[in-house]
Amino acid sequence: MNAADPIIRLQQINKFFGTFRALADVSLDIRSGEKVVVLGPSGSGKSTLLRTINRLESIDSGTIIVDGHNLYGEGADINRIRMEVGMVFQNFNLFRHKSVLDNLTLAPIKLKMMGRAQAEELAMSLLDKVGMRDRAHHFPVQLSGGQQQRVAIARALAMEPKIMLFDEPTSALDPEMINEVLEVMVALAREGMTMVVVTHEMGFAREVADTVVFMDAGAIVEVAPPQAFFTTPQNPRSQLFLKQIL
Ligand code: ADP
Ligand code: MG
Repeated sequence: MNAADPIIRLQQINKFFGTFRALADVSLDIRSGEKVVVLGPSGSGKSTLLRTINRLESIDSGTIIVDGHNLYGEGADINRIRMEVGMVFQNFNLFRHKSVLDNLTLAPIKLKMMGRAQAEELAMSLLDKVGMRDRAHHFPVQLSGGQQQRVAIARALAMEPKIMLFDEPTSALDPEMINEVLEVMVALAREGMTMVVVTHEMGFAREVADTVVFMDAGAIVEVAPPQAFFTTPQNPRSQLFLKQIL
């Protein structure tokens, strides 16, 4: 891979659920360290798009290259791809019967063959980073939604991914917990992580995104820096969307 190559390259992706076209000729390049915020109405294909980037979803045509690996090519190593691409979901998806610490150490021990002591050391430093070190021995049910989501972010980071995908990470949270999660994401962005974020938090999009991608009916209809997107959206559907939410 050439240093100038994008870390994520989507070329002409099509994805069908039956006869329904969920992704329509989607092409997008994301460079290392770039922060992309994906906006669009409900059902426009945002989650499907994210899920194709770590192969949680298959595609029907097109090419996806992540860090030089052809995701859907012959002999693609799914486990390796998932190690490089962390994902955070709306509903946290923590292992409920495991402690916070075990949530973080499980995958590194199992998939990266990390020794327990090293995995725990890494886990504690990540919990520290998301302000959850003192909850290492709690169980998810004992935590608030915002705390669970911060643990979920730390868990994804424990695999030392190169790319982090976030699918509406604050949408299931009570309003007073949204900021504590956004702050963790802002800190991650400042450290240079490549991030693709589906969110309704326009403040985050304005402040953190390098690029806003707007989707409608499975297609990317506008790609612009946030400043341009929010002040002078070019596509009529972006204009309508912004009118409705701002
Ligand atoms: P968004 O995240 O933008 O709200 P999604 O990517 O979740 O949109 O969904 C895009 C479209 O694909 C929606 O119409 C949705 O109903 C449909 N869809 C998503 N997943 C499936 C599935 N597993 N089976 C059938 N239809 C699906
Ligand atoms: Mg979605």
